[in-house]
Amino acid sequence: MNTEMSIIIPAYNEEENIELIVEELEKVVNKLNISYELVFVDDGSKDKTWNKISKIGENNKNIKGIKFSRNFGKESAIFAGLNYAKGKCCAVIDSDLQHPPETLIEMYGFWKNGYDVIEGIKLERGKENKLYKWFSKLFYKLMSISTKVDMEKTSDFKLLDRKAVDEIIALPEKNMFFRAMSSWVGFKTITVGYQVQERAAGNSKWSTFGLIKYAIRNIVSFSTAPLQIVTFLGLLFLVFTIFLGIHSLYKYFSGQALGGFTTIILLQLITGSITMLSLGIIGMYISAIYDEVKNRNRYIVEKSVNIMDN
Ligand code: UDP
Ligand code: MG
Repeated sequence: MNTEMSIIIPAYNEEENIELIVEELEKVVNKLNISYELVFVDDGSKDKTWNKISKIGENNKNIKGIKFSRNFGKESAIFAGLNYAKGKCCAVIDSDLQHPPETLIEMYGFWKNGYDVIEGIKLERGKENKLYKWFSKLFYKLMSISTKVDMEKTSDFKLLDRKAVDEIIALPEKNMFFRAMSSWVGFKTITVGYQVQERAAGNSKWSTFGLIKYAIRNIVSFSTAPLQIVTFLGLLFLVFTIFLGIHSLYKYFSGQALGGFTTIILLQLITGSITMLSLGIIGMYISAIYDEVKNRNRYIVEKSVNIMDN
């Protein structure tokens, strides 16, 4: 193992960005003057992404790639990249140049100084629409509360030491939230700020519905806080029930029953909706458990370039 740095690049329909990111990353590794490999993970792209990766790979053995048989999602792509990477340290970076490649120089410096987990932190959120900002704020708030890690500014842009990478790829869970896992593994950690750039070409790969699904999955895969909140709500309601029960019985025995129609309707609505919500939350956990129990592969590799021979 004598590759100094592996750079993992998940790519889904990024045909216009592949050459650009290769060029930028090569500038960085040349400046650092280190041995390197770029590990592209084509997450089942439908455009020419794979053609570009394999063509570049033919002329440069440092550029490696695997292509998934279909779209398995960014988390699976990152995981696969970490799995194939050979470097003493591994960086993960988006293929759309939103993560400035030069930041890797600073990250590498910290790694050289003995840090194991170097987290890229967004100094400013990029251009996003209001609804997206609102949702991501809510999501990160929930994540931060439940993971006790300040997640608001974190991203998938990171540099990890080999020992952190080995811990992460050894985790058996299928629904992994990479952003939180890198802090979960511990080790000597530091953050490095970066300015989120405009996407070089193409569009964001997320739909609103996709993002909501992703957010729920990640919360469920990393935290049981929602289940605890539901239990707490149940207890709170028990207290109300006791008070209201005593109150109603008192009214009944003192002959002032009847009335209280509004109370009944409100109680019905509140308990009904809380019960439904709680069932829903429990359902999400059951479906996450179901996914884990099935124990399917995280991804299926269809093709690869420069992977076998190292
Ligand atoms: N990506 C991926 N699989 C997916 C969606 C995205 O590998 O299913 C990659 C994408 O090619 C990019 C990175 O993940 O390199 C970030 O995606 P995107 O730019 O669409 O997300 P955003 O920056 O808008 O959060
Ligand atoms: Mg992007």
